[in-house]
Amino acid sequence: MSAGVRIIMFGRQGAGKGTQSARLAKHFDVPHISTGEMLRNAVKQDSVVGRAAKAVLDRGELVDDGLMVSLVQGRISQEDARTAGFVLDGFPRTIGQATAFDSLTQTRPVGFVIDLDVNREIVLGRLSSRRTCERCDAIYTATGKEPNNWKCEKCGGAVVQRTDDSPVAINKRLDVYETQTAPLISYYQGRGSLHVVDGLGSPDQVFDRIKTVVETGLRR
Ligand code: AMP
Repeated sequence: MSAGVRIIMFGRQGAGKGTQSARLAKHFDVPHISTGEMLRNAVKQDSVVGRAAKAVLDRGELVDDGLMVSLVQGRISQEDARTAGFVLDGFPRTIGQATAFDSLTQTRPVGFVIDLDVNREIVLGRLSSRRTCERCDAIYTATGKEPNNWKCEKCGGAVVQRTDDSPVAINKRLDVYETQTAPLISYYQGRGSLHVVDGLGSPDQVFDRIKTVVETGLRR
């Protein structure tokens, strides 16, 4: 059933892409490839890529297309992604990345582009209260009652606000989404591979909607 499932998850920051991508990847037994996570790991490791990307990430801007395409090219050419497929989370984010990715995947095109639809007002609220485990990237929602040294329930790491979840960076990221990433909706609509899924509701409800889209498509 899962052989060759290739999914792009797309949507505003805070729409729930990360959560839903992880669940989809588990369900279809394919790797979850999050470009944001790859970059954050590179920053933590202080690698060449991390050093090049850190300031851009902190400002909420987009990392250069060439660097992103080569990162993703390297990852999807690994054995697990080549054989089983992938859930790609956070890429492509510009028309330039999408066209480059089309050339890379000409022989095995992506089957599903899921646009997880949540409006700007709602994601702004979600992102402002989002907190993340520094170590394992688990996501929490702040209520204002948490201790100063909030620890992750899963791994014991420190739960903090991502530097790019500050109010200034959030607004910047959402503006960047509207100008650079939203045009991808019509790009993929033109190809007939776009599925708009309502991202409001519980994580289980949203997951069921996405799963139905993919499973229905796979049966065709
Ligand atoms: P995310 O976790 O997907 O919101 O990504 C966090 C940050 O990583 C973004 O705000 C960008 O600075 C950078 N980033 C992630 N994916 C891409 C991409 N495909 N193109 C350019 N920058 C990206």
